[in-house]
Amino acid sequence: MKPASLRPRAIRTLALFAVMGLVLILYMARLVQLQVFQYDDWARRSARNHQSKRVLEMKRGTITDRNGLELAISVETYSVFLFTREVKNMNETANLLATVLPMTRDQILQKVANRKGYLPIIQKLDRGLAQKVMALHLPGVNLEENYRRFYPQNSLAANLLGFCGADGHGLEGLELSFDKTLRGYAGLAVQEDVSFGEDGPARMRIVQPPMGGSNMVLTIDSFIQHILETELAKLVDKFKPIDATAIAMDPMTGEILGMACLPTYDLNQFASSTPDSHRNRPLTDIYEPGSCMKIFPTAVALQTGRVRGDTRFYCKGYGEMPNRRVKCHGQHGLVDIDKAIAESCNATMVQISQLIDGQDLYRMYKNLGFGEPTGLEVPAESSGILYPPSRWSGFSAASLCIGQEIAVTGLQLVRAYSAIANGGWLMQPRIVKKLYSHNSDIQEEFGPQPIRRVLAPTVAHRLRKMLAGVVEGGTGRLAALPEYTVGGKTSTAQKANPRGGYFWEKVVCSFIGMAPVQEPRIVLYVAVNEPKGDEKTLYGGKVAAPAFAAILDRVLKHLKVPPDKTPPPGLATATPLLAQASAAREVSFLNLMSAPVLPVAEAAEAPRGPAIVTAPAAPRPTTASEASQEPTEDHPGVLPDVRGLPLREAARLLAGLNLPVAYEGHGLAVAQTPAPGTPLARCSQIVVRFSPQPSSP
Ligand SMILES: [Zn+2]
Repeated sequence: MKPASLRPRAIRTLALFAVMGLVLILYMARLVQLQVFQYDDWARRSARNHQSKRVLEMKRGTITDRNGLELAISVETYSVFLFTREVKNMNETANLLATVLPMTRDQILQKVANRKGYLPIIQKLDRGLAQKVMALHLPGVNLEENYRRFYPQNSLAANLLGFCGADGHGLEGLELSFDKTLRGYAGLAVQEDVSFGEDGPARMRIVQPPMGGSNMVLTIDSFIQHILETELAKLVDKFKPIDATAIAMDPMTGEILGMACLPTYDLNQFASSTPDSHRNRPLTDIYEPGSCMKIFPTAVALQTGRVRGDTRFYCKGYGEMPNRRVKCHGQHGLVDIDKAIAESCNATMVQISQLIDGQDLYRMYKNLGFGEPTGLEVPAESSGILYPPSRWSGFSAASLCIGQEIAVTGLQLVRAYSAIANGGWLMQPRIVKKLYSHNSDIQEEFGPQPIRRVLAPTVAHRLRKMLAGVVEGGTGRLAALPEYTVGGKTSTAQKANPRGGYFWEKVVCSFIGMAPVQEPRIVLYVAVNEPKGDEKTLYGGKVAAPAFAAILDRVLKHLKVPPDKTPPPGLATATPLLAQASAAREVSFLNLMSAPVLPVAEAAEAPRGPAIVTAPAAPRPTTASEASQEPTEDHPGVLPDVRGLPLREAARLLAGLNLPVAYEGHGLAVAQTPAPGTPLARCSQIVVRFSPQPSSP
């Protein structure tokens, strides 16, 4: 053996091992790279090649009214898919499908268009058609379940409910604001196919089942809603307004029983309606409320003791402010606060604005929830407009007392009036009574939520009596009902001109009130925006009050509220029953209201001192009627003697003096200061004291 011949062989062998070793190392390194460092990525790629995912649609929750009547439901619809790999004969399959589906054979083949895979053919089939497709038992024809939103009551409560888009997401109303709650969670199925088992059937594996959305029970009573809508339709027919709204609320619980507005639309045909008709106007639209606000400054005056039951005001046909007069619709003469509210006297309200503290007035409006949203879970709620005293002009207090320089929504008004109705509590308005999960194992019920006490119970009671006076003998007579006591307030608000001032011919006529007066079961609001017709009749009392009465009567009877007025003969037992029901209701409400009373706008102590008021100094009268009231009798220029005269005559005699006069008590005048005969130049204020006499007129 020659060592020389061995050497090159050993070198070759070594080199071979070295190369093999290097290749092995590279190979192992690649394996480590693929299986360790890039595992996730490759696993994902592999899954994508072998699986296709399908999102499983969930069923949207149902919306019902408080009695279980379905307002919005999800109806099953079906989609047809062709799984080309399983189809034995495409032409024959298309032929057979065309006998069932609303499609021709060619249309079906066009959908396939020589593609392969899982191809959609048609969507939104109803169950009947889907069953016919299934009965064909065609290989490769798959049915998938989807849902379509359907509104069984069509346009009922449309502006409140809103609707869903094609993708099943809420676009308007409660469908939008409760979209997450109603929608639920989509499921996931994985379909294993493509490269494995090319000839085997497609396998769908449900990874995550879909979870249906929660169901919603509203506080709405469909029958009350229907009453509101039909009566509004009559109003619109008669007065051709821009729009009309109505709200019915249970003042004890804050539950909204009905909320309607016109124009409206059919929820099942929403695509063919205008966006303007979708608006939920009782919440989105604001306006200057006018006279219906007068009750709140009155509440401030009573609650702070600035005005008493025997305080008198004098109306000369206008309210007097420095450099401005606020016209009154009539010359009401001597009025007490009840009469002033009953007649909606502007002059009295101007005088009240001068008696009460502006801060108190602002606090009352603020406490009643004006100037901020009520928090009802509905989209696009407006706050309204309420400026703080720092932004007021010299006229603002008076304007606010007659419902101007403030803008409100219908719902804010209803909530504020509910505080009068329920004895003084501001309640949280509610539209949802209950939520429960799709399989009913989780439930959430919502009870009354008192926010704060804003009126002393005695003041609320007093205000209800005043509102009853409006209907019994004031501007709201047409709101009266034969069987129930009714309290309420008219409003005829001129619409503000954006260029300043007001449009005389453009008005919002409204009526807001409650019944029965002693213990109201319902607060109802009806408003008509720009009614057309004879200007002399376009008043809240004429336009809105009759509709208010018609709705109220039907609603009270629907709620089986026992009549509280002149019970018909033979129904004598109704009274004790009423008393019982009433007592039970009161107790439950008192329990509810056992929450601590907030130190807000507390009732003042029993008012002391003279009931001062009112005809503040004014420029010399210029009109004949005013001039005739001057004390021209015997001694011109001196204070006349009013002793022995009844209040009305004394007031008429003193009104022409243009001096502030305070009237105290009632009956006949028994004393006056300064003394009769005092030169008027030396009088700055007159106080007349009255005493009841058995024979007083
Ligand atoms: Zn007046």
